[in-house]
Amino acid sequence: SLPVSIVLITGTILFVLYSRVTRHSLADDIRSGIENEEFFLVYQPVICAEDGKAKGVEALVRWQHPQMGLVRPDLFIPIAEEGKLIVPLTNYIFERALKDFADMKVEPGFRIAFNVAPEHFTQDDIESKFIHLRDSLERIGVKPLIEITERQLLTPDICQCIESLRQLGILVAIDDFGTGQTTLSLLQTMPLDYLKIDKCFIDTIGQDSVTSHVLDTIIELSHKMNYVVVAEGVETQEQADYLTSRQVHFLQGYLFAKPMKLADLKLWLVEHFKH
Ligand code: C2E
Ligand code: CA
Ligand code: CA
Ligand code: CA
Repeated sequence: SLPVSIVLITGTILFVLYSRVTRHSLADDIRSGIENEEFFLVYQPVICAEDGKAKGVEALVRWQHPQMGLVRPDLFIPIAEEGKLIVPLTNYIFERALKDFADMKVEPGFRIAFNVAPEHFTQDDIESKFIHLRDSLERIGVKPLIEITERQLLTPDICQCIESLRQLGILVAIDDFGTGQTTLSLLQTMPLDYLKIDKCFIDTIGQDSVTSHVLDTIIELSHKMNYVVVAEGVETQEQADYLTSRQVHFLQGYLFAKPMKLADLKLWLVEHFKH
């Protein structure tokens, strides 16, 4: 009826206006947040399934917003991507990690994994920027790993860029594997180094469901294609045992450690390598 549609239409218009306004101001906030160093990194250890030791960490960004408090990346990363702010934000994240790890003693071969949005690769002189990152990390005894989310990997330009990263000796992981649409064709056309299986597949372990067979298939395929396989979102010992028995190389999840602030990570690493 007429009144109902008027209410619906008005509601929609108000919602669109509201989200325009908030998105606009959030993008502005991101810009000033980078300048004011409101962003920081938390680090989640990545565990070798075979010996149980941490072989690196994944850097995950957090935002301490002056009014809103702690904001999750799920909320602001899409806005940063839309507002062309993901490039300065990612560059800031690289610099932040370099500072964080500058005086840290790590095991040889220790890796920091960074999440990098595809837009990042559209910058000019992207190669020299990655050479800078690689060399700066090398000076402090750390190697980078670049994680790229699969559903966004597709354009030929980005593929070429990723290939040149690998030529620079930087390893590239396909992130959230299994959640995109082009999974198999991508594996064929574009060889990468690491494959991170999305948490939603890890959750199926112990359930006799179709998706638990999908998990087995992904692991088998990864081995055949010589990928280093990482499982994310490992929460139970049952999951860890299952994945280890299937020769998954690395495990990451709350079972081992949550993402930690730098000071906590330092304590955690000391404690972890004592044994
Ligand atoms: P992701 O790359 O898939 O990161 C894994 C997410 O799972 C992280 O959420 C992590 O805190 C969470 N997680 C890890 N282990 C467990 C577990 O055992 N159980 C559960 N329930 N969750 C677990 P977070 O930190 O909120 O990040 C969300 C997403 O935001 C990331 O997903 C990534 O896509 C994006 N993101 C985070 N940091 C960055 C960044 O620096 N740059 C970019 N471009 N994206 C980022
Ligand atoms: Ca990731
Ligand atoms: Ca992931
Ligand atoms: Ca995920």
